[in-house]
Amino acid sequence: MAIFPGSFDPITNGHLDIVGRSLRVFDDVRVAILVNPDKRPLFSVEERVAIIREAYRGNRRVAVDTFSGLLVDYAEAVGASVIVRGIRAISDFEFEFQMALMNRRLNPRIETVFMMPAESYSYLSSRLVKEVFQLGGKVTGLVPPVVERRLREKYGAASRAIEAPPARPRRIR
Ligand code: ADP
Repeated sequence: MAIFPGSFDPITNGHLDIVGRSLRVFDDVRVAILVNPDKRPLFSVEERVAIIREAYRGNRRVAVDTFSGLLVDYAEAVGASVIVRGIRAISDFEFEFQMALMNRRLNPRIETVFMMPAESYSYLSSRLVKEVFQLGGKVTGLVPPVVERRLREKYGAASRAIEAPPARPRRIR
């Protein structure tokens, strides 16, 4: 079993791509959402769990969970020996490299495996999805349908206001 840890606020097709690739190598993948009290997420941890559950409904090889504290401690507790992380570009590498080596120092029994998504997702991030959606841009094809729906519910009136065409000025006689 491999653990795929992250914030997933919200999960994107880039994340799904990495899960799909992981399933070709590992029997089971556990998507583990980090509960981080220092961050102010758009979706609560419960919402993120529900979203990922819905995205993988019927797939018994993908589980969803949350954790806090050290990732290696969580991995050890659930009996996983592999951490999967995605690398989009060189810019991801430095931070990921540092984390992987620190985790190895903390627990040498746990290995970090990096996977590259399809090029079409290499520019995709949860932050960008939120920003684009909020400004009225389309995110279809970048996130699973459940995320699009949840974003619409979350931003509700604000995003509709951006979508609505501006009112025609009335001629005054
Ligand atoms: P974190 O806050 O831990 O970076 P994220 O949810 O942003 O959490 O990312 C979780 C993991 O998924 C990280 O390894 C990140 O590099 C990877 N990831 C994020 N977006 C993509 C993407 N578009 N393609 C491939 N991997 C991605």
